[in-house]
Amino acid sequence: MDARLEAIRDTVLARNPGEGEFHQAVTEVLESLGPVHDRHPEFLEGAVLERLCEPERQIIFRVPWVDDAGRFQINRGFRVEFNSALGPFKGGLRFHPSVNLGIVKFLGFEQIFKNALTGMPIGGGKGGSDFDPRGRSDAEIMRFCQSFMTELYRHIGEYTDVPAGDIGVGGREIGYLFGQYKRITNRYESGVLTGKGISWGGSLVRPEATGYGTVIFAEEMLKTRGLSFDGQRVVVSGSGNVAINAIAKAQSLGATVVACSDSSGYVVDEAGIDVALLRQIKEVERGRLKDYGIRRSAVDYVDGGSVWDLDATVALPCATQNELDGAAAARLVRNGLLAVGEGANMPSTREAVAVFQDAGVLFGPGKAANAGGVATSALEMQQNASRDSWSFAHTEERLTEIMVGIHDRCAATADEYGDPGNYVLGANIGGFVKVADAMLAQGLI
Ligand code: NDP
Repeated sequence: MDARLEAIRDTVLARNPGEGEFHQAVTEVLESLGPVHDRHPEFLEGAVLERLCEPERQIIFRVPWVDDAGRFQINRGFRVEFNSALGPFKGGLRFHPSVNLGIVKFLGFEQIFKNALTGMPIGGGKGGSDFDPRGRSDAEIMRFCQSFMTELYRHIGEYTDVPAGDIGVGGREIGYLFGQYKRITNRYESGVLTGKGISWGGSLVRPEATGYGTVIFAEEMLKTRGLSFDGQRVVVSGSGNVAINAIAKAQSLGATVVACSDSSGYVVDEAGIDVALLRQIKEVERGRLKDYGIRRSAVDYVDGGSVWDLDATVALPCATQNELDGAAAARLVRNGLLAVGEGANMPSTREAVAVFQDAGVLFGPGKAANAGGVATSALEMQQNASRDSWSFAHTEERLTEIMVGIHDRCAATADEYGDPGNYVLGANIGGFVKVADAMLAQGLI
């Protein structure tokens, strides 16, 4: 790492002890930015990086609620409003027991660059809670969401901060959150949340957007080598929103997705994952992946273990951070891996990324490859602002244009900085320069 940036990184690490994922995300970005600072000394003079690594505002709050047995439950809520140089803070809410400040900060930090890469007017933020929605009734989810919003509402707004979904937060949760926001504020402010239901201000394609976008990005990478998804053997991790829609899109392009996972295990279905059955089990019944193995013949369910033990020509990690380590990456490379598209945020460890890049595997980092979700959220905001709603075909066309544009911007930036094919460098520099220019223009804030 450039010595000037290393000193800044060390200060950030010392100032934010115990936040491992945040340290990892900051280190990975700063490692790419040395050449930019040679060309733009004004970024150092303007303390752009020091400001960028310090969130504009961090909110931590108590979320008290009552479970179905009448017991009082207390969770912790977070919203980190990281950077608003390009527009209102924008980023999802995650409900998962692992959520802590360091995880929310890593996600919010990544979100700044991702949102800049989309070319849309949105800043970066993220939030969530250590609440575990698994096994909770609808009524419990609703009471939790209402309590969460009872504090969050005062910090958000269509021109201030616009949350959306992430792990554990889908259409049902966004509905309960929106309802409570409307009730407290007495305003039907559609643009305050994205991922809404289609009949009350949501956008078509938003549920599909992150998974579809990841595959579109990976297809663009494959094209640079004269390849496509057609005939590829694909392994996907996760079986949530991003994973299911990535599977559907990859198979529509002629790939066979042979496996997917949840946090309990994975299924191997050599005939190709049956997306309709998977949706029924995960989205309608809110069941476990194990049921897929029970209901479909010639399918193996492996309890525990890692889906990355399987061979694939394309890997789409779509579950969570640091799920794919260096040893798994080396095994995948040995067995013929061509490309990785990160549907999840930071699913590959730093060691895994190095293995992929050293082996010449096409590697699309999450902040570029999974930007389709937030981009379509911005399209939802556009539709809300103009009180319009677009067709599926039109919205999907916009998503495709945006993903191809992100791919091309990352590729062109990597070329410009002398490292062709390095999408990590391209994404980090491409996103950073846009935000840095805006920060300098807006003065010391
Ligand atoms: P969902 O909650 O819909 O699904 C998450 C999936 O990942 C589930 O299959 C879950 O399994 C699995 N998973 C979650 N945590 C772990 C863990 N610690 N270990 C193993 N498996 C785990 O979330 P999404 O699909 O929305 O999000 C997946 C990833 O994509 C996240 O990294 C998120 O930040 C990222 N992302 C999401 C966007 C969106 O639009 N939703 C946008 C951009 C990025 P189980 O059910 O067993 O917990």
